[in-house]
Amino acid sequence: MLPRSLYVHVPFCVRRCAYCDFAVEAMRDAPTADWLRAIAKEWDLTAREMGWAGPLSLDTVYVGGGTPSLLDAGAMSALAETVRRHATWHPASVEWTCEANPESFSAEIARDWKAAGINRISLGAQSFDERVLRWMGRLHGAEGPGRAVATAREAGFDNVSIDLIFGVPGRLERDWEADLERTLALAPEHVSLYGLTAEIATPLGRWVRDGRETLADEDRYADEYLLAHRRLTDAGYEHYEVSNFGLPGRRSRHNFAYWTGVPYAALGPGSHAYYPPVRRWNARGWHEYEEALRDSRSPVDGEERISVEDAALERVWLALRTDLGFPVAEATPVQLDLARLWEGAGWAQTAEDRVRLTAEGWLLLDRLALDFAAAGEARHELTGFASRPAPD
Ligand code: SF4
Repeated sequence: MLPRSLYVHVPFCVRRCAYCDFAVEAMRDAPTADWLRAIAKEWDLTAREMGWAGPLSLDTVYVGGGTPSLLDAGAMSALAETVRRHATWHPASVEWTCEANPESFSAEIARDWKAAGINRISLGAQSFDERVLRWMGRLHGAEGPGRAVATAREAGFDNVSIDLIFGVPGRLERDWEADLERTLALAPEHVSLYGLTAEIATPLGRWVRDGRETLADEDRYADEYLLAHRRLTDAGYEHYEVSNFGLPGRRSRHNFAYWTGVPYAALGPGSHAYYPPVRRWNARGWHEYEEALRDSRSPVDGEERISVEDAALERVWLALRTDLGFPVAEATPVQLDLARLWEGAGWAQTAEDRVRLTAEGWLLLDRLALDFAAAGEARHELTGFASRPAPD
């Protein structure tokens, strides 16, 4: 099976946000020409290595970062030309998403992206609260997301997603409900939520380690998540995946490639590709990545072969993280017993021949997926699950 989705990573940001663990380099001016050259080289190397007999047929392209809106005007049409060396897509049916940050998403960039064929914008808003934005190290102010959405609309984009971060430290006294209301007032087609975590290599990770910062506790984290679920679903959004909400017909098609276990191609530093059964990833550093390609070497830094056991666990985890759920017809009797216990706890519902997690269940996704996968292999009745404590 050939990839029908492509991810392209832009590893440049003006500065690194306090919580960010992504593959990015801080710089004011993104080296657009160098980036395009490196991506083109990697694409050629990949096509040769994979032995694709003809051009791939792509359904989705996702340009993420980093900050793609830092690249010069013209970058996306040049990228499209490069990708077309080994792939085709139908302009009317492809979903081509590009991430943007409010401070660099100018009217010029918006028009340029529209002309290049991009038809979906994913906007890194994170919050509408000045204090929270400053604490995060974001470059835009409270009015930034609204201006950026207006810019996107004026350029003709009718598919805009807004990213929000919840679970920030309680001492910031962030009004999460107000942020949700301001998001809804902008009428985006899609909303993505990210629960704040403190990765060890980030400034936030160091603050937490040194006792200078405390993340939201589990109660606050769960309350904010469930409030977002209620508020957004009341407003007509479908909570279709643990972190994602879309108006009907506006789900992210690209992300479904990740969640359904099909192959996807990827380019750029730190990007991950999946050519079943192998998942592989590139060098994270921009300079290391670019140097490899300048020397015509592969930038791939590692790979793992997904075993049959891991594939089974992943399949469960992926099925449970979306509202597609797990097919009842494929569940073992022990898994069905477990699903009934989850229903009693409010963590799952079984309907239309699928076991689906509820928002309360998604708060426990990793634990529940492990248990469900284990139950798929169990040959005897499970006894331990009934005593599982409710989320606290
Ligand atoms: S803008 Fe995004 S990618 Fe860039 S540093 Fe901030 S969180 Fe990371």
